[in-house]
Amino acid sequence: MSEVHDVIIVGSGPAGYTAAIYAARANLKPVLFQGMQPGGQLTITTDVENFPGYPRGIMGPEMMEEFKAQAERFGTEIKFEEINSFDFSERPFTLKSDFGEYKANAIILSTGASARLLGLENESKLMGHGVSACATCDGAFFPDKEIIVVGGGDSAMEEANYLTRFASKVTVVHRREEFRASQIMIDRARANEKIEWALNKQVKDILAGDDGKVRAVELEDTNTGEISEMPTEGVFVAIGHVPNSHFFGDQLETDENGYVLVKNGGTHTSIEGVFACGDLMDHVYRQAITAAGTGCMAAIDAERWLESQAHAAPVESAS
Ligand code: NAP
Repeated sequence: MSEVHDVIIVGSGPAGYTAAIYAARANLKPVLFQGMQPGGQLTITTDVENFPGYPRGIMGPEMMEEFKAQAERFGTEIKFEEINSFDFSERPFTLKSDFGEYKANAIILSTGASARLLGLENESKLMGHGVSACATCDGAFFPDKEIIVVGGGDSAMEEANYLTRFASKVTVVHRREEFRASQIMIDRARANEKIEWALNKQVKDILAGDDGKVRAVELEDTNTGEISEMPTEGVFVAIGHVPNSHFFGDQLETDENGYVLVKNGGTHTSIEGVFACGDLMDHVYRQAITAAGTGCMAAIDAERWLESQAHAAPVESAS
């Protein structure tokens, strides 16, 4: 039988690394699986200005390197592998990647969230041919081009601002007149002369030219229903995120949007010994600092739960 670890952490954003720092300092010798996007969503953002302790801001990827180094300093074993099978039906729990099978008495899930897409057929067809969900990854492909950003939250404002480094014009297309974004982000975007606004507009289709690349979007006016075409060479979709809970099938209780449910404001999931933290369970705050906070909570919850198991009376045999 493979070695049984005290704690396995799945996911390497601020929640996962913080859980690792706490679990490692509690001598639980955690193993952390980074997944396909080591460092998580912060590695595809630019400046992080609101994480306390960095008064001058820090680049997202650099911050995640610091988190990782801190987790390693206390002995976290970090594996660049993606867990693709989770079995929570019996303890110790069993996880599998393409490279092996792993067992642990407690599991901390911090698999985060991924970009939500509009769900249009041409959106997936044209992904990488003018459609993107990541400005920091793809912005440089649009020098002096006219592009659009879809959305009205902080992500859309941040991406629009960032993309003006490359594009000649960025139009924010939003389905309402009010924004979900914070005032400081709206003000910054409004002050940017390269940003224009197409409000009360919903993207109905993305159109390709003969070269197979994006040439325009079809927009519907959400007040009048009028359809119009707006020429554009790039479409950046920034309409929020969906939690990465599909990996677990129906083993864990989730809400209707897929966020893993936790008990009593803590990180215990519907399965004893499995804990969830970060964007996987938080649909309200979704910040790096709150993800880190819940990562800390998950490690403490796991430590206390393991301790309670060690001192639990042995279960008497039924025979
Ligand atoms: P969000 O706040 O949920 O905003 C999503 C936006 O996309 C909303 O304006 C929404 O429109 C729109 N939208 C959703 N589905 C749509 C659809 N099918 N078609 C058209 N529009 C659609 O998501 P977010 O901007 O990614 O932000 C998520 C969290 O991360 C927030 O808590 C935010 O504060 C945080 N964040 C912070 C920073 C920062 O502080 N620097 C940067 C990025 C993100 P409606 O408003 O009409 O629903």
